Amino acid sequence: MEAYNILIAVFVFLFGISVGSFLNVLIYRIPNEMSINFPPSQCTSCGHKLKWYHNIPLISWLALGGKCAFCKEKISAQYPVVEFINGLIWLAIFAKIGLVWYLPFVMLSFSMLLALTMIDFKYYAVPDNLNIAALIFALIQPDFFHAILNALYAGGALYLLGFIVSKLAKKEALGEADIIVAATMAALLGFPLFFIAMFIAAILAIVPSLLAKDTKVPFVPFLALATLITYLNQEFLLRMLEALMYG
Ligand SMILES: [Zn+2]
Repeated sequence: MEAYNILIAVFVFLFGISVGSFLNVLIYRIPNEMSINFPPSQCTSCGHKLKWYHNIPLISWLALGGKCAFCKEKISAQYPVVEFINGLIWLAIFAKIGLVWYLPFVMLSFSMLLALTMIDFKYYAVPDNLNIAALIFALIQPDFFHAILNALYAGGALYLLGFIVSKLAKKEALGEADIIVAATMAALLGFPLFFIAMFIAAILAIVPSLLAKDTKVPFVPFLALATLITYLNQEFLLRMLEALMYG
């Protein structure tokens, strides 16, 4: 890798952890129906306003030993973890597709999926606005019309499947949220990668579903993780699929 690329990679990572910091705000405030930009950052325990140097992604949490600078209450490790993961995701996507004009939109789409993942884990539901944002970011790419068609196919097929299963099982099978996530997946991946991602998501979800027995298992995190795995390994997975089909 040339020095130039390393410089961009560092920038992508730093920008990624900063956006991760904003994701934490979304994850905390949207389910609680709070405004995103008001009030400014404050300790969720004592309400003390944070200084700018308490707000530096990763660094501040580590420097403060995971405690509020004012009340010394523990600050959830979720904050630095989400920042770091988002930085890594951005870095991986940059390494995969390079400096193309739609790079920021792919990265933002995956960031929205990360926020949805965290919210689904915590609340077993995902907000529509973030879900639709993920889809819109996924559609912004060179083959815009193809991406829209893919999203419609996947969303429509899943809607139909959900409708039929719901009628047969007499309970709601697929939520509206899952359908929007599926549309995002298809826009990002296209076909047949979409099916591979669905398959991976199902495999990833098996063990947690068995362990959880009667309690609910959020499905969006598995869809999101499977989408990332598939996106980053698309050539390899397509070769595997070909080998399986044609020997
Ligand atoms: Zn505090």
